[in-house]
Amino acid sequence: MGRDAKNLCLLGSTGSIGWTTLRVVRAHPGRFKPLVLAARSRGDVLLEQAKEFKPKTCVLTDQDAVIKYCGDFNALGIEILAEADSLPAVAAHKEVDSVVCAMSGVAGLAPMESAIRAGKEILFANKEALVVGGEYIMRLVRDSGVRFLPIDSEHSAIYQCLLAGRRGEVSSITLTASGGPFLHSSPDQMSSVTKEQVMAHPTWEMGPEVTVNSATMMNKALEVIEAHFLFGLPPEKIRVVIHPQSIVHGLVEFTDGSVLAQLSRPDMALAVQYALTAPERLAGVVEALDLAAIGTLEFLEPDEQRFPLLRLSYEALGGEWWEPVALNAINETLVRAFLADQIDFEALLKLIADCFGRRNEITGEWSPSAKEPECLDDILQADTAFRNFALSSIKRHGLRGAE
Ligand code: MG
Repeated sequence: MGRDAKNLCLLGSTGSIGWTTLRVVRAHPGRFKPLVLAARSRGDVLLEQAKEFKPKTCVLTDQDAVIKYCGDFNALGIEILAEADSLPAVAAHKEVDSVVCAMSGVAGLAPMESAIRAGKEILFANKEALVVGGEYIMRLVRDSGVRFLPIDSEHSAIYQCLLAGRRGEVSSITLTASGGPFLHSSPDQMSSVTKEQVMAHPTWEMGPEVTVNSATMMNKALEVIEAHFLFGLPPEKIRVVIHPQSIVHGLVEFTDGSVLAQLSRPDMALAVQYALTAPERLAGVVEALDLAAIGTLEFLEPDEQRFPLLRLSYEALGGEWWEPVALNAINETLVRAFLADQIDFEALLKLIADCFGRRNEITGEWSPSAKEPECLDDILQADTAFRNFALSSIKRHGLRGAE
């Protein structure tokens, strides 16, 4: 074999991006070696992956899952670690070349920081970690000089299109949004949608949190913030357009009026593979695009009435460093409550907007400060404070509902 395999640490192995990464690995024998596979609690799925890909180490951060499955991993000769605390260490392990950050939520921030500090290449799908880590993470990336490549399809598209011009020649970037399951619903219909309707996304298959975020358009809101930090562009240069077919993933407009776009079938394997191999391109994973068979590509302005949460990202970016942290923490907490059937969809939309609108009213041990975070803990304290803030809003809402 002409080259050594790239050693991967895959954080979030049993999720949708984790599986897609392994599909890319499988398609190119000898190119990639999954050295570490980490997941939260799905021990049976992780075991299935471990049998096929034979990693050195597996991590299950859920204690009960480790107790249940550790014998099976040991029987395969695979080291099995427990607890989220072990993630920063495995991500920084000396044999690891690249870390695929595919956990969902802010839990991915500490292992990402550790991997950057250890000089690893970062392939990130964990948009929340960048939304929350923001300038703090980007500064670490610049200081350590690591490669930092997006897996999110829109950001991968924009990354690729940016290669066609100079940074000073970019007049705007555009993220496309499928519009989710409620693109054609009236605000009236939106108030009575069921959880099943929310979970049925028309074009992308994703984990439960991202699926809910797509229905509320919060996924796109977070992606605007992600793009701001990743590409270093001011919010006014970041646009969103609804594109129901999910064929055009992102566009870059240059100062001469030329617009470049990246198109492909809606399959995350392409973005994952590009991040793993860029600037090289490998054949064989994604089916060819047949534009004539698709026929029509539509583009629509996002309707503020139907998707009121989108503008919150611009509000957050216009404020202090902790405002994106607040938006993400409030959203994550309320989405979890929705998935646990504690609040319905109408309450989810309302509470996210209300809670974020009252972000300056937060009280308790943490108080808003303009001082930039100096360490991860400064960020995580704000995160915890806004989670509690959101939890108390659910309680208040519940009490009102019971009156
Ligand atoms: Mg995306």
